[in-house]
Amino acid sequence: MRRAQGTLAPVRLGGGGTNARFLPFAVSAADSILQVRDVAVHFGGIVALDGISFDVPRNSILGLIGPNGAGKTTLFNCLSCLYVPTRGDILFDRRSILGTSSHRMAALGIGRTFQNLALFHRMSVLENVLVGAQTRGRSDFVSNALRLPWMRREEKMLEDKAWGLLEYLKLTEVAHLPTGALPFGTQKRVELARALASEPKLLLLDEPAGGLNHEEVEELGQLFRKIRAEKNLTVLLVEHHMSLVMSISEHVVVLNFGRKIFEGPPAEVRRHPEVIEAYLGTGH
Ligand code: ATP
Repeated sequence: MRRAQGTLAPVRLGGGGTNARFLPFAVSAADSILQVRDVAVHFGGIVALDGISFDVPRNSILGLIGPNGAGKTTLFNCLSCLYVPTRGDILFDRRSILGTSSHRMAALGIGRTFQNLALFHRMSVLENVLVGAQTRGRSDFVSNALRLPWMRREEKMLEDKAWGLLEYLKLTEVAHLPTGALPFGTQKRVELARALASEPKLLLLDEPAGGLNHEEVEELGQLFRKIRAEKNLTVLLVEHHMSLVMSISEHVVVLNFGRKIFEGPPAEVRRHPEVIEAYLGTGH
């Protein structure tokens, strides 16, 4: 078993059941791009996730929320193959992704962005986006060394694709600037462009609104809706920014203390007593 990042690796403790306390919404497995099945993660004696199950409908936007320590990041890391669950399974396009190494995710069709950005700061914006595009290329060490004709054609194709994405995300003017010198909000768009360059079917967004001002968050919401529609994508976002989650998600999954306490449309989340209690505590 690969070791999890962090202080403790998950250990197999066994036992436990599925969490029955939720409001299911009707999504048949056939319409789902991602199926999370009874996923548990234990860090030593800490149960970070305890039997989480839900489906992500194809071409939808699903918001994953919950108070601090609820288990969102742990689940996200399982979906990105950075952690191996102690129990359960995760199916992408009906195939288990457990055991897949995280650097193979893009080739499978899963793109992700990171909470604290994971860009090459000294590289230009264009170069960063090309890194994402190259995960779709066929070249390897030998073909690189030989500079085969098909490789030059592929390079040109990937570069055209990168420029297309820069234009799409309004980054053309900063294409040749070092990424680290750009404002935070622009860097977030660069990261999005890089994730899109690998042409994912499923885009995992880790707190995309973190560090952005009100106006930028509004723009981001519109951008996600546009991307989902125009690029035929499914989006799963972990986010603390409630108004963003509620305005763009069709489905919301709420975690608390490693368990799923709610699953359903955004309109019902705010009214659900267990969600209100999780966020406000008892007595409110
Ligand atoms: P936040 O919103 O604060 O980022 P979260 O919902 O993402 O919280 P997680 O970071 O997934 O929650 O943490 C879930 C639980 O697992 C917490 O109790 C946390 O302390 C614990 N935990 C997470 N990672 C580790 C680790 N590597 N080693 C030990 N415990 C961990």
